[in-house]
Amino acid sequence: MISINGLHKQFGDLEVLKGIDLQVNKGQVIVVIGPSGSGKTTLLRCLNILEVPTSGSIKIDDQTADFSKAVGKRKVDLLRRQSAMVFQHYNLFPHMTALQNVMEGPIIVKKTPKAEALKKAQELLNKVGLGDKHDFFPHQLSGGQQQRVGIARALALEPKVMLFDEPTSALDPELVGEVLQVMKDLAGEGITMIVVTHEMRFAKDVADEVIFMDQGKIIERSNPSDMFTQPKEERTRQFLNLIQ
Ligand code: ADP
Repeated sequence: MISINGLHKQFGDLEVLKGIDLQVNKGQVIVVIGPSGSGKTTLLRCLNILEVPTSGSIKIDDQTADFSKAVGKRKVDLLRRQSAMVFQHYNLFPHMTALQNVMEGPIIVKKTPKAEALKKAQELLNKVGLGDKHDFFPHQLSGGQQQRVGIARALALEPKVMLFDEPTSALDPELVGEVLQVMKDLAGEGITMIVVTHEMRFAKDVADEVIFMDQGKIIERSNPSDMFTQPKEERTRQFLNLIQ
């Protein structure tokens, strides 16, 4: 479903992604871990083309772009629509209700008729446990509720892959569980997900594979049980010792 080959991203002189190769199958949940600054967020942002890669290619389902050459805007748009991002700080529109936040993407991006977008948004908010909050504005919702709106909003775009960028790290500890539960439910439905997170419990319970990144490279990739009990690389071991 996803094939990333030789992906590089440079900000000025700083090379943040130094040749990422990654294949992901349909329905897989991939958790990405690694020290701060290792390029995890940049990788997700490149997949959603919020950052344009410097070189390398990205294929998601039936859309491919090779950034080693010039890539047209239409191609970028088509590739971008294959994924949807859930952000650390939710990034909801503050002047819109939960319902309007979820409807906005389909109406603007996919030109979905308003009545259809409304029905879908209602269903999605119900699905993430916010059936009674449709007309609430972000500031009237807890962080966990806002993030669940963020997840519903991403799902409304009907992406091939959901990208989660540390979705629980801005939340008070008691609100983390409700967001992780929604993500677990999505994983159970077979949605393809790439998740950057420090929630090792989630990684152990839900991930099909865990990827350890350091200094812009994938250092190690394995199933959660091997990654957490017998990592192959010394750098992975050091990182896991620090956080576990
Ligand atoms: P991580 O998510 O693993 O913490 P990031 O992908 O956020 O890592 O960042 C990797 C490196 O890229 C950091 O050194 C960061 O300062 C740098 N970086 C990220 N975005 C930009 C940007 N827009 N401009 C310049 N440097 C950036």
